[in-house]
Amino acid sequence: MSFLIRCRPFRVFGLLTLLLLTTPANAAYAQSPPTQDTTAKPATLSSFDPTPSLVVPFTKLTQAKYPVIDIHSHFGIRLKGNRETFQTYLTQMSDNQIAISISLDAVLGSEEDHLDFIHDNGANAVVAFAHIDFKGGGGEDPANWACNQPGFVRTCVEQLRAAKTKGILGLKFFKSFGLTYKDKTGSLIKIDDRKFDPIWEACGKLGLPVIMHVADPIAFFKPIDGNNERWEELSRHPDWSFYGDAFPDRQELLSARNRILERHPETIFIGAHCANSSEDLKQLGGWLQKYPNLMIGFASRINELGRQPYTARKFFIQYQDRILFATDGPWPNLRLSYYWRFLETYDEYFPYSEKSPPPQGMWRIYGIGLPDDVLKKIYFENALRILPALKPLYKTLGH
Ligand SMILES: [Zn+2]
Repeated sequence: MSFLIRCRPFRVFGLLTLLLLTTPANAAYAQSPPTQDTTAKPATLSSFDPTPSLVVPFTKLTQAKYPVIDIHSHFGIRLKGNRETFQTYLTQMSDNQIAISISLDAVLGSEEDHLDFIHDNGANAVVAFAHIDFKGGGGEDPANWACNQPGFVRTCVEQLRAAKTKGILGLKFFKSFGLTYKDKTGSLIKIDDRKFDPIWEACGKLGLPVIMHVADPIAFFKPIDGNNERWEELSRHPDWSFYGDAFPDRQELLSARNRILERHPETIFIGAHCANSSEDLKQLGGWLQKYPNLMIGFASRINELGRQPYTARKFFIQYQDRILFATDGPWPNLRLSYYWRFLETYDEYFPYSEKSPPPQGMWRIYGIGLPDDVLKKIYFENALRILPALKPLYKTLGH
């Protein structure tokens, strides 16, 4: 009962959405003036940003309970080479008790550029994964892309060996792999194409975990209409939509990713963003059971996990050895504090982002109050198990 009361603002929101989007009699509605306060600012759907009247306990957390390893951050993409914001984030890391951040933004073959940027900023608490440059400066014509030249995969494997000696700890794949990268003929590259097998194999042999972002939230593969739960966001960013014949089926992309996991049991894969099944934790649990080489990070998914707190809490406890802390940051302190509140408290109905409107769905979240032994695994123990090279650094920085 109390749950229903807490959710009421969204039910009103849903009703408003329906009225504004589907009522053909909008004009007639506007002609009969409302009897309420006429001096009030007119609300439009885009300005509707309700302030909850709910009075519930609020836990002020400015740092994690234990020193954290953040396995998913973007010091290249988000900081854009800015030394000042880099230094600010290093201070934030120590304030929030983030002992180590893994930046996924080094480019395989020229990883020194990103590593130098990190080292020039004196950031020994930041380490890096590399990603493959599929286009390689080949412009817009797929025929000229690096991935469509002979020897591409062999070169990648050689570069992986070299990158490891330079301190690269793993390999990252962005969602373009599967959604937009094309072969010579202009057809989408299939991510489970056998020609990439030497890359997955090499990562296993070299002890480099592969973090893969495959597909995207379910809503991004549905029509941008009044029934789409991310309609507000997609109407601001229609380019984030993968709905339609030009894009592969979402579930097929995830299945193709799973076929790689199955074929390469010696390689550790990290499913970024809950392996993109945060809307369906039962499916995700099934994958974790079926593929012992799959770990998951939950970067940019507390919006999803925190709206299903009972299911998420059970999931985190059941799969406590398979989950890695991840943010997708650098984020502002406020956003980081929502991660701590989500994991460590039973706080109710709080934002998951500092942004207004909230960037990933018009809803709020609930904490899942994880026990200390589970928190430790998620914050650092699991990361140290799959990335043992981090142990001495963590010992120095995490104590
Ligand atoms: Zn990311």
